[in-house]
Amino acid sequence: MLTCSIVLFFISSCGIRERSKANSYSPNVIPFNDTLNVFDTFCTISIYGKINESYAKVCINEIKELLYKYDKMFSRTDENSEVYKINKRISDEVYVSKEVANLFKISKDFYKWSGGAFDISGGTLYTLWDVKNRTNLPEKSQIEEALLHIGNFDYDVHEEDNNEESVKITFYGDTKTIYDFGALVKGYACDAIKNLLKEKKGISAALINLGGNVFCYGKMLNREGGNFNVGIYKPFSNGEIAETVSVHDKCVVTSGNYERYFKIDGDNRVYHHIISPYDGYPTNNGIDSVTIISESGLLSDFLSTAVMILGEKKGRELIEKCKKEFGIDIDVIFIYSTGKIILK
Ligand code: AMP
Ligand code: MG
Repeated sequence: MLTCSIVLFFISSCGIRERSKANSYSPNVIPFNDTLNVFDTFCTISIYGKINESYAKVCINEIKELLYKYDKMFSRTDENSEVYKINKRISDEVYVSKEVANLFKISKDFYKWSGGAFDISGGTLYTLWDVKNRTNLPEKSQIEEALLHIGNFDYDVHEEDNNEESVKITFYGDTKTIYDFGALVKGYACDAIKNLLKEKKGISAALINLGGNVFCYGKMLNREGGNFNVGIYKPFSNGEIAETVSVHDKCVVTSGNYERYFKIDGDNRVYHHIISPYDGYPTNNGIDSVTIISESGLLSDFLSTAVMILGEKKGRELIEKCKKEFGIDIDVIFIYSTGKIILK
């Protein structure tokens, strides 16, 4: 369980607190809040609007249901999850939910566009670097073995074959490959929450913090430009803020090396959870964190991880490619281990 998120958010001077019952139709600047543990992290939900408490509860519960659903669906360890069953490769042909099929499909592009840096088929490697439970390096031979099973996109998503409920995927080739959507699922969940909130009358704004993924929905009525302020942590500090961004209707996603890591005696290197498929080791390119700001949760999540691995030059090329492909604005913040911060 992560004890702190890598992105902190600030709320207006009133702070986050429960709106009192007597005050339930008061100016819609005080949120209704809730918290939960999903995606192995502590998450918070705040919603704003001219809404009463019972309606707020309904909305928050629907958001929580969505989060629980995606947490379970994409889990690598839950024996009942779709991804777990795929990884067991009990059958080469599987029927999965549209959501899982969607991510399998787009992940092929993400792999191609990132030149192999972003690889959902790298689960053998990412499991080996289980930095939460590790205090020593894996054997070189283990890394070499894990590398044999990555970069496997030898599957077809049969969209033509789908019915209302499920989509067929056929897997060919290496059955030892492990698929891992940890770098995408939180962003994907934020997009689903956005679609849910759009259907809800009366909600003017919401802030969903999934520990490193901060989704700012709608406009804050008491703020200039309707913006939320989102603080980006200074890596390896005690909660200091390195930079603050002011945004609305954006997903602010940070990938960093300071969130889950270990060190070994006599070595200053940080062994963390974002792994370069090129050499099988955690990235070590001088970048401590990458923050991506865009209207798409999925893209922000994909890019923050991919750019961490690619570094600034190639990372910027990938961002440009995505801007063109999806026609959206994408901003980036690099924080280097030297302390240097590069905006945009
Ligand atoms: P994020 O926090 O979004 O940057 O995602 C980190 C998680 O993505 C890790 O915990 C792994 O599960 C997974 N991961 C690590 N390296 C990669 C990679 N090169 N490509 C795709 N996913 C990765
Ligand atoms: Mg990511």
